Amino acid sequence: MLKLGVEVVKCLKCGKDNRFLTQADIYEYGTWIAHNRKCDRFSRVMLIDNPVFDEFLEMIGQVCSDLNIEDKEKYLHPDITQALFLMACDPVDGDVISFRDEPRICRYCGSKEFADTLSEPLHAAEVETFEVTYDLWNIKTKEEKKHLLSEAIRKYL
Ligand SMILES: [Zn+2]
Repeated sequence: MLKLGVEVVKCLKCGKDNRFLTQADIYEYGTWIAHNRKCDRFSRVMLIDNPVFDEFLEMIGQVCSDLNIEDKEKYLHPDITQALFLMACDPVDGDVISFRDEPRICRYCGSKEFADTLSEPLHAAEVETFEVTYDLWNIKTKEEKKHLLSEAIRKYL
């Protein structure tokens, strides 16, 4: 089990309360929180001493050089690195995992407009977990990995 913060916010369109999980209160340096598609199982991904992540960062640098991208820092920003790193993570329950719950979408009406204030005070909840694995990524050759990364980085250019 993993402890996450729960935010209950009211949808401005249909007025129903939506429950979102946030990692804000358990933020830890060097970790990301991933979730499955249904957002009912979570995983804490350790980035420090994670050889897959180390190699991934190194390859971002190499691919940027290959593509003559000068602004490598852009791709090492957590927002983009997270989106890219998903390609290295195995599917869970048959679906790709996510690192974020953004943009927030009302599960009743699909609206993205929410009240600025919480309906209930932020509280903690225990959630089911899974382990992020990299088996499908690890069987690829370095060239295959760089090719996939290169394709993905091109989309941000
Ligand atoms: Zn709604």
